[in-house]
Amino acid sequence: MAKQTIKKPKKPIRSASGVTVITLLTKPYPCPGRCIFCPTYSNMPKSYIADEPSAQRSLALKFNPFLITLARLLVLFKNGHNVNKAEIIINGGTWSYYPGQYKTYVIKSIFAALNTFTPDLSQKLDLPITKNKLRRLNVSLKQFLSLSLEKLYSKNTTAYSRAVGISVEERPDTIKLKTLKSLRKHGVTKVQVGFQSMDDMILRINKRDHTVADNIRAANLLRANGFKINAHFMPNLYGATPEKDFESYRKLITLIAPDEVKIYPTVLLKNTRLYRLYLQGKYKQYTEPELIELIAKLKLITPYWVRINRIFRDIPTPYMQGIKIKSNLREIVREYMHSQGQKCRCIRCRQAMFLSPPKTYSIKVYKYSSQIGDNYFIAAEESDKLLGFVRLFLPNLHGKALQLSPIRGHAMIREVHVYSQVSPFGKREKFSVQHTGIGKSLIRKAEKISRQEGYRRLSVIAAIGTRLYYEKLGYQLTDLNYMSKQLE
Ligand code: SF4
Repeated sequence: MAKQTIKKPKKPIRSASGVTVITLLTKPYPCPGRCIFCPTYSNMPKSYIADEPSAQRSLALKFNPFLITLARLLVLFKNGHNVNKAEIIINGGTWSYYPGQYKTYVIKSIFAALNTFTPDLSQKLDLPITKNKLRRLNVSLKQFLSLSLEKLYSKNTTAYSRAVGISVEERPDTIKLKTLKSLRKHGVTKVQVGFQSMDDMILRINKRDHTVADNIRAANLLRANGFKINAHFMPNLYGATPEKDFESYRKLITLIAPDEVKIYPTVLLKNTRLYRLYLQGKYKQYTEPELIELIAKLKLITPYWVRINRIFRDIPTPYMQGIKIKSNLREIVREYMHSQGQKCRCIRCRQAMFLSPPKTYSIKVYKYSSQIGDNYFIAAEESDKLLGFVRLFLPNLHGKALQLSPIRGHAMIREVHVYSQVSPFGKREKFSVQHTGIGKSLIRKAEKISRQEGYRRLSVIAAIGTRLYYEKLGYQLTDLNYMSKQLE
């Protein structure tokens, strides 16, 4: 097997968070949502614009999930990134609304691509990928579609490129126990949820068709069953003010307790009802200074166990009406905060990126409560840098009642993450802290806390490609793709 040539990757940031992200869009499909800010383009899934970078890539490959995944692996690998640990982000409308057969086809296609990719293949295949080129190499999706999901999963546990996480997008009102069961069958580990606001009046007049109570119920169900919660929050919706948004975000942090947040300031787009309200003088956009000040305030109340993944949606400027939001908003906010002597403490602002393994580090435990149990953020830190963490959840009686049967009553590990540059399996790299035993120490700490708190079993919402790792630590595969261990 050809080895990956060690060279500095182009855009090293793409694999500096310990995983290599592969984003794909599902095919155009309607969403029954009526949100007044959401655009519709016939060639795109609801809410997406063809000129957004990941949308462009998916459109060019006719939304074929096999080709998109394979092409992305190839591009990243050829650009010097290690693609051993692939985090799959499935975007496009609301996943639950797609027909079951289509969803299985998408998941099978992704695993087929992950299981097909090797450095050898990358030497024989140039871009752009076409079906003809693949046919000449005897690679076709058909041979995989007849396999069961479990066969594809099992192959992925030893593949060159393994799935270390899969996320999909949902609305709060689609999240029910039966949805979660289906997500687990498909190996999903994280759900991006469009909570958007924690103010019932704002949700109502923006025609979101869900309430704050729905938001809280969805978050509880996800947490109880181990899913990571990526909360989408939209400042400057119709009817909002900076003060209302601040209060709404404060509620999001306390009542939803998300793990990750995407702050997407509302972008005014032409073919929406919001644009008509704007033309009638009924909707007012925040000025740039108002927006910057608001986001800085939101950052200041974001606890250090939350990662603010984004504060701008990749919408090309020509599409924006009225005040144009700058694509480097994050940097602008950072400079503003710096000028005010303020600092964001979220995970993204503290995570180790290109760090040599430190001689020493400390493991700190931060505990915070939610309605349905206690959360422990167990962090490996070296001075101010976050090297890695485990999210442990200990359900109370209410939380246990929300759990799926294979994990009912179990303590849950919801995430294990070691930061810095992706290291190849079984190897240590000079500028990475992966594979230095940090993950194992954090898991042992989680087991100890669970035992002390009286839990007899600990389960992990393990991504398909990480099964072997947990097996080595004494965990066994259970129904719905969880890994589970009896605590002595
Ligand atoms: S739920 Fe999401 S995709 Fe559907 S209309 Fe609302 S914003 Fe658009």
